[in-house]
Amino acid sequence: MLTIDGSAGEGGGQILRTALALSTVTGKPFRIEKVRSGRPKPGLLRQHLTAVKAAATISNATVDGAELGAGAITFTPGSVSPGEFAFAVGTAGSATLVLQTVLPALLIAPSPSKLILEGGTHNPMAPPFDFLVKSFLPLLNRMGPTVTAELERPGFYPAGGGRFNVTIIPPARLLPLEMLERGAIRTIHARAVVANLWRSIAVREVNLVGRLLSLSDDALIVDEIHGALGPGNAVTVEIETEHHTEVFTGFGEVNVRAEGVATKVAQEARAYIASGVPIGRYLADQLLIPMALAGAGRFRTGPLSRHTTTNLEVIRQFLDVEIDLVEQPKRIWTVAVTGTRN
Ligand code: AMP
Repeated sequence: MLTIDGSAGEGGGQILRTALALSTVTGKPFRIEKVRSGRPKPGLLRQHLTAVKAAATISNATVDGAELGAGAITFTPGSVSPGEFAFAVGTAGSATLVLQTVLPALLIAPSPSKLILEGGTHNPMAPPFDFLVKSFLPLLNRMGPTVTAELERPGFYPAGGGRFNVTIIPPARLLPLEMLERGAIRTIHARAVVANLWRSIAVREVNLVGRLLSLSDDALIVDEIHGALGPGNAVTVEIETEHHTEVFTGFGEVNVRAEGVATKVAQEARAYIASGVPIGRYLADQLLIPMALAGAGRFRTGPLSRHTTTNLEVIRQFLDVEIDLVEQPKRIWTVAVTGTRN
C-alpha cells in the first residue's frame, strides 16, 4: 500500500485529491497521513470529506477514517463505475475541487457520466467556475474528451448553495497536449460579478482593472447575478490569446476594499502577460494529471508554483511517467511528460 505524506511540499488538499484521483484510476490503495497539515485548519474539512466520498462512490471503494477533522485515511478502490452522480459539499466549500477529484477516472472510463455538484462555485483558493469552463475544460477537450459544465446557480463563500452540472464523454484514448506558444493576445476583458451586493462595487473594480491594464471601456463588463443564496463578488480578467484563454480571478471579502481585489487580480494578469508563456500558474498544476494519463505532452509556464511541484511528486508515486522540468530562460519552465519510466 502506498503511503502519502499530506504535509509534503505545499501541504494542502490537492495532495489528498490527487491521491484519490490516481488511486481510482490505477486501482492502487493508499494511506494518507498528516492531511493538509500545511493549512491553518488541518485535516478533512467538509469539502475534502465530500471529495473522499465522491471518489469512493465512483470507484466502489472502502475507506477507513473518513471523518470531519481526520488527519489520516486509508482508501482502497474497487472498479470505477461511470454513470450519474450527485455530490453536495453541504457548505460553501469548493464543488469544483470535488470535480477535480473524480474527473480523471471518469475521463478514461468506458462510458459517459453526468454529475450534479453542489457547494461553492466561486471560492478563493479553488478553480472558479468561469476558469473551469473558459480555461481548463477547453484545453482538456483538446485531449479528446467532451466535458461540458453548466452553471445553475453560483455559490459564494460563506453562504454556498451553488450548483452546476457536468457531462463527461470519454475519448477512445487521451491524446497528448502541446502548449509551448501562446501566440498573440487577441482580447482582454475585465468582468466583475456581484450577487446581493451593490453594483457600484463591480463598477469600481472593472474601472480600476481597466485603468491598470489599459483596457477600453467596451472591455469592461459588470454582471449582477440573481439567485445566489448570499452575497458574493468576484473579478475576473480573461485573456484570450491565439491558442487559448487564461482566466485570473480575485474575490471580494469582508474588510477588503474593492480596489484591493481589483489591484491584485490586475497584477496577476500583468505578470502572466509579461511572462509570454501560454500556461498560467493554476492551469499548470491542473493539467499535470490529464497529461500524465495521456502519457505524453508538453507546456511552457512561468515560475513553477508549489502546487505544481507538489502535485508532480504525488503523480510520480502513482504512475510510471517521466515528467521533466527544464528552466530556460530563467523563471520560464517547460514541463514535459515523456512517457513511462520503465
Ligand atoms: P489546495 O490549495 O491544495 O486545496 O489546491 C487548490 C487548487 O485550486 C489548485 O489546483 C489550484 O491550481 C486551484 N486554484 C486556486 N486558485 C485558483 C484560481 N484563482 N484559479 C484557478 N484555479 C485555482
